[in-house]
Amino acid sequence: VKAGKRGTFQFYDRQMSEGLDDRRQLETDLRRAIERGELELYYQPSVVLKTGEIAGFEALARWRHPVRGNVPPTTFISIAEECGLIHAIGEWSLAEACRKAATWPDRLKIAVNLSPVQFAGPDLVGMVRGVLERTGLPAHRLELEITEQMLLDSGEATLAILRDLKALGLRVAMDDFGTGYSSLNYLRSFPFDRIKVDRSFVTGLGSGAQNAAIIRAVIDIARALGMRTTAEGVETADQQHVLSLLGCDEVQGYLFSRPVPAEEAQALISRWRPEDRR
Ligand code: C2E
Ligand code: CA
Ligand code: CA
Ligand code: CA
Repeated sequence: VKAGKRGTFQFYDRQMSEGLDDRRQLETDLRRAIERGELELYYQPSVVLKTGEIAGFEALARWRHPVRGNVPPTTFISIAEECGLIHAIGEWSLAEACRKAATWPDRLKIAVNLSPVQFAGPDLVGMVRGVLERTGLPAHRLELEITEQMLLDSGEATLAILRDLKALGLRVAMDDFGTGYSSLNYLRSFPFDRIKVDRSFVTGLGSGAQNAAIIRAVIDIARALGMRTTAEGVETADQQHVLSLLGCDEVQGYLFSRPVPAEEAQALISRWRPEDRR
């Protein structure tokens, strides 16, 4: 029994340290990838439900590792958050996205994800202001997406930064709404411009009335508070139909387009036919 126990323990021990080595290796590789400019942004359109027009795009980071192939952003963003690289990645992705959006028609907005860790870093507001100045993108065309998780361990300091960001003239969206503990509390504390309904509720739309009821409630609250709504992860025409009955403003998902490289986003902008998308 003793030997067995020890054997088991050693097995887990080895796995754990291999996991750590693996992460450390990825961290080294990520650092190099940033230096060599190997990260790329993909863009996913957000579609106005009523008109079928493209409202704008969300920028999503991609990393093709020379050996491992594509590393999911959830993996490398979390590594970057742990080791501090997120500040470099965050500034790069914001600048790259704004530079690209500045070449699009004026009516199109660009949405960029912010990591909670960036709020703890030095002068987030100054960084964003600097990027807007350098790229010449009008602030009102930029929307920053913040997951409600980020607000968990934060109080007045985060709210003050959010207010300073909004004072630049940009918009702020609450991402993944409904997945955290205190969604409603945050809505009371801060005037978000938009709520993004998490994909899990949209995916469940077909099964049972609960998900539709929840989405309906979120849309009602958003409307009462003067916020707009976007539903994420729309994959079927049925989901689109229900969301339009519920009065959702915008939709994003594979039904319309996967995230695509900048050139393909450009092609979508010029070839999009709203009447086919309603
Ligand atoms: P998110 O901000 O919630 O982004 C939405 C995710 O859903 C994206 O995954 C997108 O590709 C995926 N998606 C969009 N439509 C559909 C659909 O119809 N069906 C399904 N199954 N998925 C859909 P992705 O690109 O893998 O990104 C995952 C997460 O990584 C993002 O979640 C975001 O939290 C984070 N992330 C990505 N890029 C960045 C970045 O530049 N900075 C930061 N801080 N986080 C990022
Ligand atoms: Ca997002
Ligand atoms: Ca989301
Ligand atoms: Ca998410």
